[in-house]
Parts: sequence; structure tokens; C-alpha cells
Amino acid sequence: MKIIAVGMNYKAHLRELGDAVPEEPVIFLKPDTALLAKGEPFVLPKFSNELDYETELVIKISKAGKCIAKADANGYFDAITVGIDFTARDLQRSLRAKKNPWELCKAFDQSAGLGDFVPIRQLKDKENITFSLIINGVTKQSGVSSDMIFGFGEIISFVSQYITLCEGDLIYTGTPSGIGSLKAGDILEGFLEGEKVLKIEIS
Ligand code: MG
Repeated sequence: MKIIAVGMNYKAHLRELGDAVPEEPVIFLKPDTALLAKGEPFVLPKFSNELDYETELVIKISKAGKCIAKADANGYFDAITVGIDFTARDLQRSLRAKKNPWELCKAFDQSAGLGDFVPIRQLKDKENITFSLIINGVTKQSGVSSDMIFGFGEIISFVSQYITLCEGDLIYTGTPSGIGSLKAGDILEGFLEGEKVLKIEIS
């Protein structure tokens, strides 16, 4: 299983980072060791003083594919949830300044928080999937899939031109605006279509 992630996929988030809209999806990978085990607390890593949450829709690939046409892409995922793309923002800033890859700030252990998957067929409006993050009882991020610059089909088609997708692979599809830093004791709760699918404690 591999974890593919899309960066810079919501215009409002690009504004808060001061970045331009990308012409094609910005892709990076996390190894399977990045997955935060369900129920485990996220332990703030020693190498960062600015550990951010990024709340994202996560789709699960349901069958293998390569060079998938955009028109066929909906047949390649069957479940969705909310995940957290934990990001060492201070480290990312220094890596970007050096034009280095992002893995150290994005692919470290526990950097992929994951909620409980919901079958796509259960969703009422597949074009406008809503999600949100509440921290310590306060809503910090909310988004809708129709705001993504590159939709699920475009992402699947684009990635599969380069990397074979396999059953069970996860795709983190980018975060809306409202990112921020975490501290020990924070309780993160993620919602998909108003239903709680994720809970992570920060320690
Ligand atoms: Mg992200």
C-alpha cells in the first residue's frame, strides 16, 4: 500500500500560503510507515516546532490501474474518509527555500491520520462532499469536494500516467483553508457529510 498526496489543491489554501494556482496536480508520496494507527495518539515530533494539521478528503483505490482515462477514473475508487496530512511547516519552509523534496516534512512516521472509510455509494451528493475538522470543540476547517482545483478523476488519471495505482492505495486530495499548528492535548475530530469519522489526540 502506498499513500499519494496532492498539495495546493484549494484556491483559498493557496492564498494563505502565498502560492500561485498550479497548472497540474502537485504530487508527493508518504510511505506506509506514515500511517497513524487507529486510536493511537499523534506524538509531536522533536524535529519541528510548527506542526500543522491539514484536513483532507482521502479516497481508497479499489482496483489496480495504469494510464487511467479521466472518464473511467470513478471506477477506481469506492470509499472515502477524512484524513490529516500532518506537516512540519517550519521544515517545509526550509526545504522549499533550498528547492529540496518534501518527504522529511510530509512523510515522517504518523504523518498520515486516517478516519473510518464510508462507501462512495452511500453518499447523497457525490459532486459536493462536505468535510470539516473540529479541534477542542471549535471548527477549524471546512471544505467541499467541488472546491478542489483538480477533482478525484483528474488526480487518478494524472497520477496513473506515472505511477501504477494498486488496490488499497490511499490518495489524500489536498486541504482547504484554515490550516494551523497543533499542541499537546489537542483533540482533533474529523467529519464527513456531518458524520464523525476521525478522532486523534495530540501528545
Ligand atoms: Mg496536504
